[in-house]
Amino acid sequence: MDIIVLGSEATEEDIRHIVKKLEGRGLKAHISTGTERTIIGVIGDTSKVTEEEEDSFRAASGVENVVRIVKPFKLASREFRKEDTVISVRGIAIGGRRIPVMAGPCAVENKTILTGIAEKVSAAGALFLRGGAFKPRTSPYAFQGLGEEGLRYLAEAREKTGLPIITEIMDPRDMDVITKYTDIIQIGARNMQNFRLLLEVGTSDKPVLLKRGLSSTIQEWLMSAEYILSRGNHNVMLCERGIRTFETATRNTLDLSAVPVLKQLTHLPVVVDPSHGVGKRDLVAPMAKAAVAAGADALIIEVHTNPEEAMSDGDQSLKPDQFDRLMKELKPIAAAVGREI
Ligand code: PEP
Ligand code: MN
Repeated sequence: MDIIVLGSEATEEDIRHIVKKLEGRGLKAHISTGTERTIIGVIGDTSKVTEEEEDSFRAASGVENVVRIVKPFKLASREFRKEDTVISVRGIAIGGRRIPVMAGPCAVENKTILTGIAEKVSAAGALFLRGGAFKPRTSPYAFQGLGEEGLRYLAEAREKTGLPIITEIMDPRDMDVITKYTDIIQIGARNMQNFRLLLEVGTSDKPVLLKRGLSSTIQEWLMSAEYILSRGNHNVMLCERGIRTFETATRNTLDLSAVPVLKQLTHLPVVVDPSHGVGKRDLVAPMAKAAVAAGADALIIEVHTNPEEAMSDGDQSLKPDQFDRLMKELKPIAAAVGREI
């Protein structure tokens, strides 16, 4: 017995009763309150709990389910939730039959450029606008992003096109300003194990896109998702964006096998970012198609109206006409695997 799920009708008294019952058996409770249910993570040696004792927890008032999980990640695991999690953002489902595409520049550069890109990707069928306002750059001398000004431009582009927005957070101190504007919070690869940041977004009611760390295993990645889930934010999606290998022909090695592996291990939606995965414009479309074929629930793709002049990641940004073509080419692939774009 590792997790006790209480329904929305469970009272404070029900929760207190369970906590006492656990403490009576030398166990501790980690309570995470979400909007629809309260989840009590059981901390301690749960292997000693007998089936009869487990049944008595199951019968307690307010309890919906009692789950035994052997994996180190619990709330993220398939055992915890058999059905796929579907995250709804301004009425758009992520994790359902339709595969939404998020597109836009690497960084928000100025209002005119962003609006121009937003209009193009929207016309091509993208359902979300991406763009970084706080950029994690390798060099401290490179463009670091426009900060709040960039967030304002994103919100204005959303106004114009109707596309919900996704942007990266790098620092817990930026939580208020970012959540004021964004629809989805992105945690970048470099911050996948920034545990304070994970806990912080775990308290937000905004969905989180958690990118895979540059050299992280799938298990480490799921443990990071667990940090967010354990704080009560159940709307987490995982984004494969390529990992470090010995190969230098591509910027990273896009690990598409992570998609079916994650589908076995977790109920969380899986997003693929072929742009950072390969780092080269010409390779983005084939890997985007392969990602859809492999079972991705969404794609996130960098697009720029003038990649040559882009302030970051121009080499991997598609031009609007290339993006438009790709969107058309993805349709039959999605249909072949029982999905739609
Ligand atoms: C980005 O999305 O522009 C980005 C910085 O991605 P990653 O964290 O995957 O490198
Ligand atoms: Mn980028």
